[in-house]
Amino acid sequence: MSYLLNEKLIGLVPYEPISGNYSIRLDANESFLTLPISVMRAVSEAILHVDYNRYPDPAAVDLCQDFSRFYGLSPDLVTAGNGSDELIFLIMSAFLMKGDNILILSPDFSMYNFYSSLVESTSLVLLKGDAFSIDIDNIIQQAKEEKVKMIIFSNPCNPTSQGVPREEVERLIGSVDALVVVDEAYMDFWDQSLLPNVTNHDNLIILRTLSKAFGMAAIRLGFAVSAPPLQKVLMAAKSPYNVNAVTQAIGRVVLSHGEEMRAAIGKIVQSRDWLYALCKAVESEFPDQITVYPPCTNFVTIRTKQAGYIYDALLKEGIVVRGFSSFLRVTCGKEEENETFIKALTMILKGM
Ligand SMILES: *Cc1c(COP(=O)(O)O)cnc(C)c1O
Repeated sequence: MSYLLNEKLIGLVPYEPISGNYSIRLDANESFLTLPISVMRAVSEAILHVDYNRYPDPAAVDLCQDFSRFYGLSPDLVTAGNGSDELIFLIMSAFLMKGDNILILSPDFSMYNFYSSLVESTSLVLLKGDAFSIDIDNIIQQAKEEKVKMIIFSNPCNPTSQGVPREEVERLIGSVDALVVVDEAYMDFWDQSLLPNVTNHDNLIILRTLSKAFGMAAIRLGFAVSAPPLQKVLMAAKSPYNVNAVTQAIGRVVLSHGEEMRAAIGKIVQSRDWLYALCKAVESEFPDQITVYPPCTNFVTIRTKQAGYIYDALLKEGIVVRGFSSFLRVTCGKEEENETFIKALTMILKGM
């Protein structure tokens, strides 16, 4: 007897973030802030009252209501997920059949391709332009020609930090028969969200997460927002107890402290702006070596032909960023972390 793995599993390896002891971690787009002490106290209190012997509310009704209130939405548009990662997988497995075409951009969030291959759909990958630009007309044309069933992209984009204005995204949604999934994981740092317009479209799902702007990556909580017919499908297709009761309780506390959360987001944006200004100064010193684009997220993307070399040199200094073949992605951190990074980057560029 011998058991053979199917083709899609052969060569698959577990996702492994970098391990080891580095003094500065600017690689995962996490928040550098911990929860304000007042919110932390409310969290501690809330988890005392969780009914640990009971299954959680499958619809996470109270949690979805708090999320809706924070963003000024109607609660019947919202589905909660075990991180938006779970929702990406759920959406692909529910809305795609084997062999269906899905349109993905590159560079973009790597999980889109990963889940797409797990559900055996066919990924059509459109490459972005030199300045990470997105050609909406080209996407519309490809979607029509290839009978694409789903288009998914992050806006603003991880890893480029570039955004597509709301009107352009809506033009795309209105021009295709495909389901359009707009991953707004970083939209709390920008102002072009489609949330207010979500019910104008019957082929739109917006994804949000508490992992980035809210600094709650540990609890795994994301949301899908769509018109009610799609919301009902998501509710029916998800696994029943996907968001555990502890996460529901903590998520409720965090979303009910709007003022504190907005203040925290303001601090992250300040750090991001400062990191960008510092990077621009380095760019003006080394214009042939790096190019920096104005960011719409909590990270700065630096285009450079020496990405691999700079990445390794930063690691030797105890600084972790995210390395790609032709650029680096640097999450904004505490003031001293940003400055240490910039000093190291300058030193590395000088030595090249
Ligand atoms: C981080 C990230 C996510 C994952 O968010 P979780 O809610 O933590 O699963 C989804 N999309 C993009 C573009 C991200 O950068």
